[in-house]
Amino acid sequence: MATLLLVADVRRIVPGTTLAFDDTDSPEGMCTTYLATLMLDELRDYDLIGLPRLVRLNPNVPWKTRGNAAVSIQLGTGTGREAVCGHIGGRTIKCFRSGTPVDPEQLLARAAEVLESNARFEYHSTNPGILCTLNRPPPSLYWKAVREIVRLEDVETILRGCGAKWKVYKGGRGLIGAAAAAAWRPRDRTWEVITYRHPSMLGKERVIDDASVIVMDKSVASTFNNYDHENGHVAIVPGSPCPVLYGIRGDSQSDLLLASDMIRGEKPERWLVYLSNQGTEDHIVRKRIRQLRPGDSVKVEARVTTMPVTIPGGHVVIRISDGSEIDAAFYEPSKSFREVARSLIPGDEVVAFGSVRSSPRTLNVEKLQIKNLSRDVKKVRNPACVKCGKSMGSMGRGQGFRCKKCGSRASDSSSVRVEEPRRLALGWYEPPVSSRRHLHKPIRRMSKGAINKI
Ligand code: ATP
Repeated sequence: MATLLLVADVRRIVPGTTLAFDDTDSPEGMCTTYLATLMLDELRDYDLIGLPRLVRLNPNVPWKTRGNAAVSIQLGTGTGREAVCGHIGGRTIKCFRSGTPVDPEQLLARAAEVLESNARFEYHSTNPGILCTLNRPPPSLYWKAVREIVRLEDVETILRGCGAKWKVYKGGRGLIGAAAAAAWRPRDRTWEVITYRHPSMLGKERVIDDASVIVMDKSVASTFNNYDHENGHVAIVPGSPCPVLYGIRGDSQSDLLLASDMIRGEKPERWLVYLSNQGTEDHIVRKRIRQLRPGDSVKVEARVTTMPVTIPGGHVVIRISDGSEIDAAFYEPSKSFREVARSLIPGDEVVAFGSVRSSPRTLNVEKLQIKNLSRDVKKVRNPACVKCGKSMGSMGRGQGFRCKKCGSRASDSSSVRVEEPRRLALGWYEPPVSSRRHLHKPIRRMSKGAINKI
């Protein structure tokens, strides 16, 4: 794999014609990013301007196939510096730092043909959408699509306002994701190199050497979510029958190519580097508990009010309050993350990140910051009477004590207590790699000092 990739300034505006598409795959095959590689192969007479963009949208959209991903690329006549960003059909793919646009109508006609030959129309929930535009939709559309539910009619109105050209198939819902991907202006960003299988390998088991992934994970610190050490699971390889061989995510695009070179096993047929919003937490909004609605992805600052309870299925639930209350659930697949919940006690102050489920109404916790730990003081026995030395009896909850022998009284606080050491430290906690969402910002991406292990 080439290591020539130059670091592109992702915030620079790269004028080109934006082509974006979504909702082309099915659980049985294809992948919207693979379609991007087919487009680049078929439309090779255009130059690629900037990196292709892999944009994840609202993870709580009920009709997503897998990870709610959409793709946007900029095509045109390239000018200025160029950098290697992929290898497709025996050809090195380069992206230019800037360029001049091409006619959106012509581009749409040709790109739509590629989509039509490859999208999985037979699947009931595949509703492709594709657009071409000289003026990208406003970033507000991206922010809405990564956090809320967007209506197709509203997207069409916005696209009309931009002078965009588009084509939809079946229900056309894919236009929502396509427009949102085109609207993304990175605030935070990561990169992913995705490698794809030779068509003759589709349907066969992917053979990737676990040890090589572990070595890569340890030696390339700017990558993340490679290997789930807790479950002994290679996380860069998808579980679905799509054309992806593996994808490595990270904070340095040049490191990604070094990382990919370290992976042993089945040889990729093609690869492409994407700029992405994965791992950025763009979907998370700070909210108060009383404002929570089903489908929200939020962070709430609250105090623990109950002891943890393990319910059937192995899920752990605690109640948290910021004036209003909600059950915070730590689901069984989050494995050791549940140990954090099991170690919380009333009074602990936390920031819980997660999504709101409607029934039962819970906050499914996906990351936790412990801001303050309360003292774990337990009563071990009733006090001894100061006059006669006999053990005193309780007069009821909060009522204090009375000596059965001489009738002396003592306050509630005079019971004999011990303070248990807390097993938790302040800081950040998250589930193992396999149970994280694409937009989850791993602690590995956050400041090193904040990392804690239980
Ligand atoms: P993959 O990750 O394999 O590409 P997917 O999970 O992206 O698959 P899609 O088949 O693309 O699933 O289906 C997601 C659908 O939801 C698309 O039609 C997309 O346009 C639409 N969509 C995405 N975000 C929103 C949103 N915020 N509101 C409404 N619809 C959305």
